[in-house]
Amino acid sequence: MTALMTGLDVRDRLVVLVGGGDVTARRAARLRDAGAVLRIVAPRLSDTMVGLLDRLAEETDSSGRVPAVTWIPRRYRESDLDGAWLIHTATGVDVVDAEVAAAADRLRIWCVDAGHAPDGSARLAAQATEDSVDGVTLGVVSTGTPDPRRVVKVRDRLQEMLDTSALPTAPVRPPAGRVVLLGGGPGPRDLMTVRARRVLQSADVIVHDRLGPTGFPGWVSDRVEIIDVGKAPGRHPVPQEEINRILVDRAQRGLTVARLKGGDCFVFGRGGEEVLACRAAGVPVEVVPGVSSVIAAPQSAGVPLTHRGTADTVHIVNGHRLPGPATLEALHDDATTVVVLMGTSMLPSFAAAALDAGVTPERPVAVVERAHRADQRCVRGTLGTIGEVAEAERVRNPAVIVIGENAREGLLDAALVEQFATVTTVATVEEVAV
Ligand code: SAH
Repeated sequence: MTALMTGLDVRDRLVVLVGGGDVTARRAARLRDAGAVLRIVAPRLSDTMVGLLDRLAEETDSSGRVPAVTWIPRRYRESDLDGAWLIHTATGVDVVDAEVAAAADRLRIWCVDAGHAPDGSARLAAQATEDSVDGVTLGVVSTGTPDPRRVVKVRDRLQEMLDTSALPTAPVRPPAGRVVLLGGGPGPRDLMTVRARRVLQSADVIVHDRLGPTGFPGWVSDRVEIIDVGKAPGRHPVPQEEINRILVDRAQRGLTVARLKGGDCFVFGRGGEEVLACRAAGVPVEVVPGVSSVIAAPQSAGVPLTHRGTADTVHIVNGHRLPGPATLEALHDDATTVVVLMGTSMLPSFAAAALDAGVTPERPVAVVERAHRADQRCVRGTLGTIGEVAEAERVRNPAVIVIGENAREGLLDAALVEQFATVTTVATVEEVAV
């Protein structure tokens, strides 16, 4: 075949799939993700297909009424193709597939024949992107004898190039201004999402803080304007209203503004306020999630937030204040892991307040400083000892404090812990004094 590669918008359009095996299941899932209405014709369904139909049964089409998927449980008849925009056949029986393809031709409906002797008028591309990236989608179609493994090889390479931003997918026509809030993760570049990196590399302006990925100016374009709004020694941070003003101002000049933050923007990151400021000014705003220190800092010290048999609840709290009733309740509960951010300066009084409220002094505590940085450190103790231990050890921000049974040393295999982190253990106050 010679192929004219086209992009089909199948949203709310009927696609008929003949066959009920795993190939059909894969294709049906893709077509449904693209918004197509599906009619499946097959006397029997494979287990995968049954699972898929169960999942899809919950869904409806975009108008919310018509079932988006129907199954006709019998052998195929030509009338099943009525109203289709596209046909897919994979019955496992070559003559049936050929029959469907021939009927499709007569009816002038494009047909993908996924059988062994493909005879269809169309082929589905192996897509490198599930959805579009920067408004483009990339895929590979073979034109000669089908060679799925070759197609997948090329597709994978394209995917890799997209992930490393090696393909110039950014729009050439200047887009209208917008703001993208980026969760940058806990520091290292490879703990930032691919999507966040892609936005950074296509941004005109980057507004960043003290926490979050360092060293990014080295790998973004030279012409990008970089604005540091974070605290630095001897300098006050830029007030939030001023940050909001900068974001809106640059976007209104038609620029793409990347607002880069540590961790995730919606975890003590004032991301919500920035979204509201942009909305109020009529500036389009998006949010890219990031790996929060809530998860990444404990992880780096080998502390899981939940663990079968020890903790099944997580409580996250701002440690600038003394623990309130909900936090005290969480601290009392053996099965809750309490994660305290911004809590190092208040740690002794935070622990004292918990003890006063009757929480057991034996509750394990791990303080993870500068997680995922070269000078990372983990200081351990219990609620009864941690105030003094932290002072003696001069624990400083940024640090995440984990309180709960999961913070107990040796919960996970020691080898695993060491692989991720240098762990300094301070078990008791006496040990520190020695
Ligand atoms: N939005 C961020 C949190 C901002 S609040 C996130 O999702 O991670 C700032 C607090 O985050 C710090 O006081 C500290 O408690 C924690 N923090 C951020 N980065 C950290 C890191 N690399 N190591 C330890 N704690 C960190």
